[in-house]
Amino acid sequence: MTNHELFQRAKQLMPGGVNSPVRAFKSVGGEPFFTARADGAYLWDVEGKRYIDYVGSWGPMIVGHNHPRVREAVERAVKDGLSFGTPCPAEITMAETITRLVPSVDMVRMVNSGTEATMSAIRLARGATGRSKIVKFEGCYHGHGDSFLVKAGSGALTFGVPTSPGVPKAAADLTLTLAYNDLAAAEALFAEHGADIAGLIIEPVAGNMNCIPPKDGYLQGLRALCTRHGALLIFDEVMTGFRVALGGAQAHYGITPDLSTFGKIIGGGMPVGAYGGRRELMEQIAPAGPIYQAGTLSGNPVAMAAGLAMLELIQEAGFYDRLAARTRLLADGLQAVADGEGVPFSTNRVGAMFGLFFTQEKVESYAHATAADTAAFNRFFHGMLERGVYLAPSAFEAGFLSSAHSDEDLAATLEAARQTLRASRG
Ligand code: PMP
Repeated sequence: MTNHELFQRAKQLMPGGVNSPVRAFKSVGGEPFFTARADGAYLWDVEGKRYIDYVGSWGPMIVGHNHPRVREAVERAVKDGLSFGTPCPAEITMAETITRLVPSVDMVRMVNSGTEATMSAIRLARGATGRSKIVKFEGCYHGHGDSFLVKAGSGALTFGVPTSPGVPKAAADLTLTLAYNDLAAAEALFAEHGADIAGLIIEPVAGNMNCIPPKDGYLQGLRALCTRHGALLIFDEVMTGFRVALGGAQAHYGITPDLSTFGKIIGGGMPVGAYGGRRELMEQIAPAGPIYQAGTLSGNPVAMAAGLAMLELIQEAGFYDRLAARTRLLADGLQAVADGEGVPFSTNRVGAMFGLFFTQEKVESYAHATAADTAAFNRFFHGMLERGVYLAPSAFEAGFLSSAHSDEDLAATLEAARQTLRASRG
């Protein structure tokens, strides 16, 4: 069957034809392709077309798809059974690895997705502080928990408004929303509500409004604010963890959060998430403490095997330096192509995470990102797709490079970009 035929059939059976909204290409228009297989830097669709993939399953595939070491680890684990519902040794190795690589994490709890990790982390923040308000940032995504599907209410800083039907107003009221990269706004909010704030959750490099790094001193400022007001600083490193540096954004910027959440890379492509932090906080989680959180499949042996194989691969000397250097080559190359074609364009990048914007401005905020030319991005996306390059199908998603992307892949990507921009100039 063709991509189109499959999509028609899928739409009859699943909402929007997909199991996660962004896959449906609603933002960029058109129809998604259906992947038949993936290897290294490439996806192949059901019609046999190959794409250089800059999405990498939305982040996990940092060593490329179907890496033999990860696959073999999974194959070995599968031989011993798929799920035990009892403790298994691989969970300890995973916890040892995470706590060693991320020094702010003394103890960790494995879960099955990024969403579960962030929901659990804010429950812990509330349980540990006895407070109920949570602070988040406009444009940051922390999964689909009720507390996160909230935007700032008009005018007032005080009450959040649900961004999805089904999120109770009462839940949204407990989420305060701030503009990212605006420290003065955070100071004003804490001055008014500090005593009620259980925790502040942030993507330390924003990756869900395209890629927006924190301004110099911003994360330090938030750290100081949380400490002063007794609120927990939660770094949502689901995207940045083991991506912008081996120790995540907290290592890259030298900040110690109270709690961290992880996903994507730690599962090596399997459904895995985790949250962790200081021992005295994590010891409040059941059954060590009273704050409840659980999971039938959490710490699953096959998922642990995939994640551990991945975490071994990324610890190889020079891995992150090489990846960051190549990401720079790609971003600078695309900038040079756009400049050459006279197209207003800018890029952001941190480690192996990058963002492309159709604007001349340096993008430092959600307002900047939404002011960029999304129609131009959508045309670029489709032009690249046609030429066998798969970028994230939304102007508000970060791009990811893997160690499997070769010089030839980068050169082919730049050539596709040149042709695309030239064609759309007409
Ligand atoms: N936090 C961040 C920063 C994310 O980027 C995502 C997903 N893209 C999530 C949480 C939610 O993770 P999941 O989709 O695994 O539930």
